[in-house]
Amino acid sequence: MIRTWHPLYKSVRSCLSVQCISWHKTSNKLKRFAYFWPPVNLRYYSTTVTITPLTRVNMNVFKFLDYDCIGFDLDNTILRYNVTNMVHLMYETLANYLITEKGYDPHYLSRPLEDKDLDFIQKGLVLDFERGNLLRINADGIIQRACHGTKLLSIEKIKEIYPGQRWDATDDFCNDMLSTWNGPVSMKMRSLLDYFDVPSSLIFAKLIDTLDKIQGGPLNGYNIWPDMLDGLIEMFDRDHFELDRGHFFPSLKKNPDKYMHKCTAKTITWLQKLKKHRITFLITGSNADFVDFIASYAIGEEWKSLFDIIICYAKKPAFFTENRPFLQVTNYRENDIVESKNLKQGGLYSQGNWKGLVEFFEYVSGKQNPRCLYVGDNLIQDIYVPNSHVQCDTVAVVEEQMSEGMMHQRLSHLDEKVLNSTLWGSYFCLKDSKTNMDSLWGYIIKKHSKLCIPEIDLIAQEPLDKSYLSFSEDGKKYDGYYPAVPLSISAF
Ligand SMILES: [Mg+2]
Repeated sequence: MIRTWHPLYKSVRSCLSVQCISWHKTSNKLKRFAYFWPPVNLRYYSTTVTITPLTRVNMNVFKFLDYDCIGFDLDNTILRYNVTNMVHLMYETLANYLITEKGYDPHYLSRPLEDKDLDFIQKGLVLDFERGNLLRINADGIIQRACHGTKLLSIEKIKEIYPGQRWDATDDFCNDMLSTWNGPVSMKMRSLLDYFDVPSSLIFAKLIDTLDKIQGGPLNGYNIWPDMLDGLIEMFDRDHFELDRGHFFPSLKKNPDKYMHKCTAKTITWLQKLKKHRITFLITGSNADFVDFIASYAIGEEWKSLFDIIICYAKKPAFFTENRPFLQVTNYRENDIVESKNLKQGGLYSQGNWKGLVEFFEYVSGKQNPRCLYVGDNLIQDIYVPNSHVQCDTVAVVEEQMSEGMMHQRLSHLDEKVLNSTLWGSYFCLKDSKTNMDSLWGYIIKKHSKLCIPEIDLIAQEPLDKSYLSFSEDGKKYDGYYPAVPLSISAF
């Protein structure tokens, strides 16, 4: 039987992260840099012409007000989580499930997390289920670094297991990132894309260690992923928020201060101003009741007033590529189908699809083919798919930009022990003995987003009409990192 990602898991898992950040003054060098940014009357610059989504202007300059409709993801984008506390919670919840419900040996799983465990965690790792390996690949799909369980493999060993440092599944993934989302390949590999996912990499590795120890060495094959998937579905089942089941949702409800950060007044004001000038929208994978809970906590009871339309349980990335109907939401429950022509400004809906949403934008803006921008953290759901499948420009929110450090910046990230990894190296690039190269994720950022920021608060401090240098269409330059390029890239 082919197992696919359970829709409950896929829809809810799109999210959670957080960071506590201390903001220090911008360096003088950056100020000089900003001073020499292109003036507003550059030849590329335009705010008034009607632009079709297929017509790209401002090749190297980005401005929010160049877009008619500006949308946001919620989890790990507008809403920041305390990643450290969240990782502990999710790790303990999943480990406990596997021990009590699936009978796994608690020897490794039940130990409290140590610094070396946190160092093992990194966003964006690829799991090879059958071989029990975790992989880091570069933009060309070459496996540059790998572990079996928690043990690092030598480059010679990688070449022995993966001839030419390649694997069919990751090749498919690099050619089309949606090809591994469902279907047979989804049961061979999985990329762990956000902070909801990352504890799974450590659990997976520790389970492999446990099995190897019990059975005396690497096995011919492993089959632990289906059990892990059951645990993730149990943890993120959207009904469990209301029912207070599954440990994860009850913990968040009981102690929101421990797991979430409130949005700053600057961010809320910036979103309010944005809505006065442009159509704003929210597309989140989370269910309406959870969305209301976390958004009310982080933004305030009036959070809905920041958006012209809100889409919950959107099932990204399929939201952008398929044609699921929009559903009414009554008392947090999905109700009747709503035709896209009947979507209302100020409404909150469940599921739906991008094409229908654009029809709503056309109606409200009075423009055909309005220019759309989407801001999010998940590099497949929020960045790659909107950009490559529906020609929507994107802004990537990547907290590792802060935790790893940036050129001439003194910003730091309180969760850097979890976000950074000396074992795996920089999130943005990979090093072998000779060269520095883009990681797959570093490449996706510069190829499929206009701008990459560590958090929305940093742009909320700037005027709405500010011009930013952006990544170029050819994906060759690093100009779109704001406020500055990550230190690992500056070493290129
Ligand atoms: Mg998110």
